[in-house]
Amino acid sequence: MSYSINNINRYWEEINKLLWNSATRDDEQDHIVKNSIKRNVDSILRDIKIQRSSIESFKIPSQRILKALLCLNENDSNFNAFYLAFSHINRALKHFEEAPMRYNVTFCLNKTLWKKEGTKHHPQLSLNFAAHRAPYEVWEKLVEHLVTGRPKAARAFEEYSKTPEFLALLEVYRSLPPQNPQEQDLLNELFDEINAEFFQKKLQKPRIVWAQRHAYRQLGRYNFSHDYISLSPVLKHPKTPRAALKFVLFHEMLHIVHGIKKQNGRAHTHTPQFKRDEARFPNHREIENILSRLSEIHSEP
Ligand SMILES: [Zn+2]
Repeated sequence: MSYSINNINRYWEEINKLLWNSATRDDEQDHIVKNSIKRNVDSILRDIKIQRSSIESFKIPSQRILKALLCLNENDSNFNAFYLAFSHINRALKHFEEAPMRYNVTFCLNKTLWKKEGTKHHPQLSLNFAAHRAPYEVWEKLVEHLVTGRPKAARAFEEYSKTPEFLALLEVYRSLPPQNPQEQDLLNELFDEINAEFFQKKLQKPRIVWAQRHAYRQLGRYNFSHDYISLSPVLKHPKTPRAALKFVLFHEMLHIVHGIKKQNGRAHTHTPQFKRDEARFPNHREIENILSRLSEIHSEP
């Protein structure tokens, strides 16, 4: 069966089902799914091009599925991470002496973090796609909660949903608006300037994009798993000093250098070393102060 953007929802259900079957039956269907995604993503993109339309012109749920598919199709490691999640859940169910084949597992692209529905004999699990890179221990806890009803066990999964890894994946399917090429050039030039000034031009350029939401609290973010920086459009407001935009981009570039440090099972990004490096930016305290008052500054007449 061939799929288009109009029945992409059915296609998503289909591949989730195939991957779950593959994980529980160990029949290596995952290769077939991988090839099918490639084929269908190509043909869907071709159709969109023929219709002279864009991803953004479709309904939000369809857009999200297409973005998730693009992410899985991007490289083998993305696809393998997704398939591994099904394997982890299968393993965790077996660990608690549950029969995985009774279950139905689907990753969803809405606000649901996790949900158990269906019947007692055929439970249906819906899990947020952004959680698919969670380590085995997190799945085991969630399954423990599902099987034993222990409320504490669900907490590990909720905690995981606050990690940079989860939030980064959330961004992949939620909002990456099309970029204006001229604005893109300006961001790339600013990156080059900072790279020369602070990093001896050693940093590799990630994709740098303006986010969709005009957020005043989260001004920038570096997406570790997909190597891109997104910046809040409030930073291009005429009343935002250029140094403030430059500082936020500098901060996100420091994330590329420092990575994520794991300590006692927790992920740290703003480590003391990170903060020391950040303080190399001229007038950083003054700029941080401006950034914290940005919405006030923008609303002044
Ligand atoms: Zn940061």
